[in-house]
Amino acid sequence: MAEEERLEEQFTLIHRTNSVGPQWNYRGHFWSARRPLDGDPPTTVSVRCSQCRKRLEFRVQSTRAMKQRVRVLKLCAAASLLVSVLAVIACIMLDNAAGEGLVRPGDDADTSQAGIVFAVILAMTAGVSAWSLLLTAIGQVGVLGNGAGAASLTKHSVERVVD
Ligand SMILES: [Zn+2]
Repeated sequence: MAEEERLEEQFTLIHRTNSVGPQWNYRGHFWSARRPLDGDPPTTVSVRCSQCRKRLEFRVQSTRAMKQRVRVLKLCAAASLLVSVLAVIACIMLDNAAGEGLVRPGDDADTSQAGIVFAVILAMTAGVSAWSLLLTAIGQVGVLGNGAGAASLTKHSVERVVD
């Protein structure tokens, strides 16, 4: 019975009340959900938003599934960060090679310039991806759907109430 009580958790469902920044205003309410046991599939719960009166469906994951999702997101963030760092190193090496005259004029120089541009774009894209994945991992509470758990500005958001 104590195990059943442990699975009951409290969350907040908050609704963004403005569409223009620079500051975002949220209002919401508390709601409770019972997490499935580890190994069980997510349960679907329906919650009515106290602000817009919309009925929203969320999938509540087990604790183990939530932790596994966080691990995968952090691993993907680390991989993206590694790609970004390697692209910066490649960019520096290509630039040094061109500066030291190791790249012959003509087609090789054009290839080197294209490689530098590609490396810069790859570094920026992978860096932004790493940051987004890390923010998504940090924001996981084991509740998915309707923007919950996404690292973006959504109309509704779910947060876990920690005792
Ligand atoms: Zn709402």
